[in-house]
Amino acid sequence: MIRVGLGHDTHRLGPGNGLVLGGVTIPHQQMALGHSDADVLLHAITDALLGAAGLGDIGELFPDTDPANKGRDSAEMLRAALERVTDAGWQIVNLDCVIFAQRPKILPHRTAIRNRIAELLAIDVARVWIKAKTGEMVGPIGEEQAIAAECVVLIERE
Ligand SMILES: [Zn+2]
Repeated sequence: MIRVGLGHDTHRLGPGNGLVLGGVTIPHQQMALGHSDADVLLHAITDALLGAAGLGDIGELFPDTDPANKGRDSAEMLRAALERVTDAGWQIVNLDCVIFAQRPKILPHRTAIRNRIAELLAIDVARVWIKAKTGEMVGPIGEEQAIAAECVVLIERE
């Protein structure tokens, strides 16, 4: 049996000293704002995994109304979601992600991000792909008010 899942996340940007994307800190004069560590990519992946397995979503597992989730490490949330998914007998086939950011350039960091995600999910890096798109200088992405990410994941079980 195979299942596909889709995840999407957006965070506002504000003055800061770096973006955390896929668990990798990228030097930038802005940061993503949010209740947790605001890693849009890991949040999108977490939601895609949970959705594929039909096991809820990140907001249900880690409500932002719970003070315990303030500043929570997104890698920890992803691991918790992965555990639920693998406990249900699923294995990841592959995932494909898009980061939407006007700046900075993601390509120089792509390998590091792919490696970190593969490590977090305990899968071969060949199963993880990352693309990046700018906002063409328009809208909240293009005007650098927000950053977003999308992920599609395929899972299978016997
Ligand atoms: Zn988020």
